[in-house]
Amino acid sequence: MKKVPTEILDCIKENQSFLILVHNKPDGDAIGSAIALGKGLKALGKNVDYYIETPLEDKLQFFSESRYFEDELQDEYDVVAFLDCSTMEYAFKPVPMVDARTTVVIDHHATNQGYGDINFLEITAATAELVFRILDALDVELDPEMVEAVFTGISTDTGSFQFSNVTADTHQILSRLYEKRDNFAVLSKRLHSEKNYAQMKLYGKAVDSLQLYEDNTLAWIFLSYADICKYGGPVQITDDVANIGMNIIGVQLSATVKEVECGIYRVSLRSKTPFKIDVSLIARKYGGGGHMRAAGFTFKGDLKALKKELIELIEYYRKHEEDI
Ligand code: AMP
Ligand code: MN
Ligand code: MN
Repeated sequence: MKKVPTEILDCIKENQSFLILVHNKPDGDAIGSAIALGKGLKALGKNVDYYIETPLEDKLQFFSESRYFEDELQDEYDVVAFLDCSTMEYAFKPVPMVDARTTVVIDHHATNQGYGDINFLEITAATAELVFRILDALDVELDPEMVEAVFTGISTDTGSFQFSNVTADTHQILSRLYEKRDNFAVLSKRLHSEKNYAQMKLYGKAVDSLQLYEDNTLAWIFLSYADICKYGGPVQITDDVANIGMNIIGVQLSATVKEVECGIYRVSLRSKTPFKIDVSLIARKYGGGGHMRAAGFTFKGDLKALKKELIELIEYYRKHEEDI
């Protein structure tokens, strides 16, 4: 197991009260990392609170620890930990913000600039990998829910181990999880295949909206506010909607535009080999962040201009493919 910075371990050992924060619209990695770390800290005798946006999407509503997500907060904590948040702006935070003696950032996004007093930043497949390593270094025994939490984090952020972010380290951690439990078949199905009726219909709307440009190398998917509302709101948009474009043979870049409020769009970008388009650079330009192959941002301007920019970008990459 790779090393964990001693600063992080000392910070945990030396402090007593912790508040755990994750990003807006928390995904499996955000929730899994928060629960594994939170329960791990509790096992070490620490006081832990969470401030996490609810309701969670259906597939993540099975952790009993999430009953604490809406508990009242203290005014002050020894440590406020930001998990899976590439920027501080992207975090879901209490208003007004609580006081923190130390802020800790634990994250795997390449675009993270390290906005904490202590930062544990490494490009792994999931933040849950970093959390697992912290708990391992502190000799915390994982209970069954923590095992599920770490699995949920890694499994969601790797698209069930299909994405290019999976490494030998990821599988080393997985093998440790399998030592604790026979299989993860039911959980995997829940995380990746099953949908409720509204989610399936919304997924269908997204497929229906698909347009292709530039010799079918750019995919553009749009979900209107009206459609999203019709099927229960943004919480019903499943992660795999952002991969619809990527699952079309020949597509190199895909933009999934979700109108989450009237005129406010959450944009998910994805890219795939052989093109070396780093979508996190595009997302950063618009105040977002993410990884080379998966990034996102919130957009309020003219969608036509955004589409034009992506078309020009892919044109450029196709022309200069050899020299990039
Ligand atoms: P998504 O397209 O929402 O699945 O996000 C893809 C990746 O980009 C995830 O790792 C997100 O954490 C990150 N991301 C998405 N939106 C933002 C944002 N507004 N700011 C920073 N990072 C983001
Ligand atoms: Mn996440
Ligand atoms: Mn993540």
